[in-house]
Amino acid sequence: MSVEETIKALPKLEQHVHIVGSTKPETLLWLIEDSGADLPYESVEDLEQFYRYKDFPHFLNIYSTVNCTITKESHYERLTYEMMQSQAGCNVKHVEAIYSAWDHVGRGLDFSLMVDSINRGIRKATRDFGVTCTIRIDLVRNYGPEVGMKVLDLIEEKSDNIIAIDTGGSEEGFPPAPYKECYDRAREMGLHVVAHQGEGAGTDYIWECLEYLNPERIGHAVAAGEDTELMKTIAAKGIPIECCPVSNIRTGAVKDLSRHPIRSFMDHGIKVSVNSDDPPMFGTTMNNEYIQLHQKLGFTIEELFKISLDAVETSFLCVEEKERLLKQFQMEYARLI
Ligand SMILES: [Zn+2]
Repeated sequence: MSVEETIKALPKLEQHVHIVGSTKPETLLWLIEDSGADLPYESVEDLEQFYRYKDFPHFLNIYSTVNCTITKESHYERLTYEMMQSQAGCNVKHVEAIYSAWDHVGRGLDFSLMVDSINRGIRKATRDFGVTCTIRIDLVRNYGPEVGMKVLDLIEEKSDNIIAIDTGGSEEGFPPAPYKECYDRAREMGLHVVAHQGEGAGTDYIWECLEYLNPERIGHAVAAGEDTELMKTIAAKGIPIECCPVSNIRTGAVKDLSRHPIRSFMDHGIKVSVNSDDPPMFGTTMNNEYIQLHQKLGFTIEELFKISLDAVETSFLCVEEKERLLKQFQMEYARLI
């Protein structure tokens, strides 16, 4: 088996993937047809062309095009199912999937029905591919903390399989401190708390995030790579970082992979996971993320497997599930090496 084939066969856990961002071109074509959206794309080829990554504004255009074509709550079943099918194809055993509820509730779709639809997709994919999935809700900073509170109201009424909240969306101009109350309330509700931070803004927001939001994990945190004190603080607090290397290149958060701070995070004692964020829109997969780390940053198979194990340990699974997965990962690894 070649090194790349071995990397593909490594067991993995995905901590940071957006359901909408996992929509494939052929699925967007189905959404366009089913929603009757008036868009100038008539074939999968047209959409593959549209998906070809140009720059960050273009990515946002693709992402919001998918959002606009989600006009029925039931659409989420197929999106979730296919996201998990793709993950299972990379030997991902468990996914913590991000769902930006207000993108759709704000347009009139029903939260409870969407959650049911997502969970139907999850149950079906678990049956078909063996991969499991939980939901983390992104409050999306652009909507502000008042909407964040409304989303928490919705979760309070319907929390099926929802295990965490997050704040993603635009970063610059949207500091974390105003979300303190949302995060305190989420913790009281028994939810885990994560924040996208240090991707589109600097270290000041990460420091602020640590002080006010006290997150259990940070998504991206790329900017922390320039601040030794900050990395030491993150390590001392035992906060893991969800790295999304290819995404960081695509959005311009990192110039090229050889300059990605993932190694520096690890050298400072921070646990990291490797994740695919918005795979078809960034032209990546979980397999590709691992392979890129091997090719561009010299990660060995052993180091990549360690990342997989850390992803299990820093996941939001219960202790029994973690132990079960760790055993399964070790068994699969032993067969590969
Ligand atoms: Zn993300």
